[in-house]
Amino acid sequence: MSPKKVNLVMIGHKDHGKSTLIGRLLYDSEAIPEQKLREIRKESRRQGARELKFSYLLDSLEEERKGGLTIDIMHTPFKTEKYLYTIIDCPGHREFVKNMITGASQAQAAILVISATEGIQDQTKQHTYLAKTLGIQQLLVAVNKMDQIDYHQRRFREVSESVQNFLTSLGFEEVPIIPLSALKGENVSQRSQKMPWYKGPTLIEGLDQNILPPQPPIDKPLRGFVQDVYHPDQGKIIICKVETGILEAGREIIFSPSGQEGRIKRMELFGEEVDKAEPGDSVGLLFDGVNYIGRGEVISYPENPAEVIEDFTAQLIVLTEVQIKNSDILTIRYGTAESRCRIEEILEKMDPINLTAQKRVPKRLKNGDVAKVVFSPLDPLCLERYSQFPPLGRFVVEGKKGTTAAGIVLKLRRPE
Ligand code: GDP
Repeated sequence: MSPKKVNLVMIGHKDHGKSTLIGRLLYDSEAIPEQKLREIRKESRRQGARELKFSYLLDSLEEERKGGLTIDIMHTPFKTEKYLYTIIDCPGHREFVKNMITGASQAQAAILVISATEGIQDQTKQHTYLAKTLGIQQLLVAVNKMDQIDYHQRRFREVSESVQNFLTSLGFEEVPIIPLSALKGENVSQRSQKMPWYKGPTLIEGLDQNILPPQPPIDKPLRGFVQDVYHPDQGKIIICKVETGILEAGREIIFSPSGQEGRIKRMELFGEEVDKAEPGDSVGLLFDGVNYIGRGEVISYPENPAEVIEDFTAQLIVLTEVQIKNSDILTIRYGTAESRCRIEEILEKMDPINLTAQKRVPKRLKNGDVAKVVFSPLDPLCLERYSQFPPLGRFVVEGKKGTTAAGIVLKLRRPE
């Protein structure tokens, strides 16, 4: 059986060693091509460094990406005894938040890199908060650059205590904290002889021991989106993508917000008749008794239906140079659905450094702001809470020139 795949993100303050740790993980698992290694060796010598400068690897890849080359070594998976890990992104990349919220790339876990000399810094807090908001529940901490503090246990203890307090305040529990040196390769894949006082796992062992593979949400109530509707000779075929739960042929289905109901007469996956579909499957459905259905409707079982909502509170992250204020009317997109919503109230803006609500609620939200906002839909819509149904609880705000903001639903109110 091929190993399960796990997607990771690397988070942490600038210069604490994210790129170096990615380079080290890829190097140790022999995922860097020889040609690239030669370049790194040459560059490291040129800089007079004794070790390989892995940060150069990522910098040079970034350059290549800008230059339009598609060599993407960073996305090469590395294999351990248990999993095939892919580092999908760093929050420094502009597309990170958007990809996470739109579901283009979903990470199951994050590695938080903290320099042993500097400890917790602004971006340490920002990135961790972002990871939490985006629903990443599994976290490992790498206290990096242990070589710079002579592998001292006392300093490591100080840093890990403050990290522990910070993580507990965000609701992360029992997070492994591993002292290591990405540059020297101590405690990454190989156990360090320099820190005999440390009895815990190496980073690779820590990943394998702590991370649970992604679980398809089959135990949840059924939810899915209508993607398309075709009208071939034999009637109407509705293409639906299952997001949560299991879709079974023969069952009664309700479409929301239109409220139409019908029984599935036939279900096809890749042209073959099937009697079940799981999250991720796009199936063609033939119905008894369904009239007009358009793209964007949500399917569910009548016993536990997707309901139209009155209003919702979302955590909104502004991604471009727009200004968002009360009473603005925005178009939001979730799954294949679109709806116009009015901003009822900006409730609070987060202070990105202290991670608390700012005292003054701003009149307008600008690029980079993170805020709690109440929306009321002008067209009927069936969002869900992100914590309960992630694919139905995240949305993007579409402006004239593309995506301007992204959000996740924290709370919603149904009509009384
Ligand atoms: P990033 O901004 O978080 O990606 O940080 P980089 O990986 O670019 O590292 C910033 C600097 O710290 C570079 O000069 C690295 O060579 C250095 N560095 C990274 N990890 C270590 C380490 O474990 N020990 C030491 N001494 N330096 C490190």
